[in-house]
Amino acid sequence: MKKHNFSAGPCILPESVIKKASEAIINFNNDNLSLIEISHRSKPFVDVIEKAQNLALELLGLQNQGYKALYLQGGASTQFLMTAYNLLHKKAAYLNTGTWSDKSIKEAKLFGEVVEVASSKDKNFSYIPKGYSIPIDADYFHCTSNNTIFGTQMKEFPSFNGVNVCDMSSDIFSRQLDFSKFDLIYAGAQKNMGPAGATLVVIKEEILGKVERAIPSMLSYKVHLDKDSMFNTPAVFAVYVSMLTLEWLKGLGGISFIEKVNQQKADLLYNEIDRNPLFKGFVAKEDRSNMNATFNLVDESLKSTFDNLWKEAGINGLNGHRSVGGYRASMYNALPLYSVQALVDVMQDLERKQK
Ligand SMILES: *Cc1c(COP(=O)(O)O)cnc(C)c1O
Repeated sequence: MKKHNFSAGPCILPESVIKKASEAIINFNNDNLSLIEISHRSKPFVDVIEKAQNLALELLGLQNQGYKALYLQGGASTQFLMTAYNLLHKKAAYLNTGTWSDKSIKEAKLFGEVVEVASSKDKNFSYIPKGYSIPIDADYFHCTSNNTIFGTQMKEFPSFNGVNVCDMSSDIFSRQLDFSKFDLIYAGAQKNMGPAGATLVVIKEEILGKVERAIPSMLSYKVHLDKDSMFNTPAVFAVYVSMLTLEWLKGLGGISFIEKVNQQKADLLYNEIDRNPLFKGFVAKEDRSNMNATFNLVDESLKSTFDNLWKEAGINGLNGHRSVGGYRASMYNALPLYSVQALVDVMQDLERKQK
């Protein structure tokens, strides 16, 4: 049986997607050629990327509203600098909720003034700051919707009456939001929508053209928009698997369906963390992430016993990020409820063994 895969990223993908992807590597579209050895400008592949872009917009409810979807390379980390390169004229506002925001702030500072509107660094990013204000003259406001490492998730977004940019790498397509509040959304595919190598950028074209600096072609949204993600060779395999994953999601019933499943999974695990006296959650309850649950053992001396138990149960990827320690269970869209149940069973097993 396949392992229960709680990996934080690259992460679990639906089995049906992995199977179709492996078939396309051998023989794509019954053309007796592999997906990865045909021209990215051939009709079969152009159909793939167009379908992936359309599905992304459709699932987010952003069709016919001036948005375009791009599949770029360089990961979300390249978006940290591309957003500032293309949008930061004088001053940008950033909310700092941990490692990823920290990195995006560092890149933005290369291009202009950065106002950190709030930070949860004082408590090791274990909560989401609230009640801050955003300078009205900021070129844009940037936030990270889900903190993959610390396990916090923004439940509400400030209403900034300007350009809103969001790094949704680790929770895109996992819950319903009013996505039209955002002018630019980006996400590395490997957390919830495909394999590593492709980055989805959903952007409103009208926000561009405000900065005066010259922008190198590969880092210019305008260039990629004008060429529909085909300025250079896209990551064909990653885009294809992303298309399959979005098709899978649409087939299930889209974001409104998967959000309910994700809520069930999160409730199951957090209820156990709160009930079981051997464990404690890492972050403020109201800010808990439905994607990445972080928790610790109350008594660290049980670590090797617990680690052996979950490994024996076929669980993979439960170690916390090195900057936090403890445990992190990532429950992305493709993780079945029974995998969370398997983890909860192990936590209860540990409790029984202590009595
Ligand atoms: C993983 C992650 C990133 C970095 O993504 P790369 O594709 O590795 O560059 C950025 N932001 C968030 C929220 C992440 O989870």
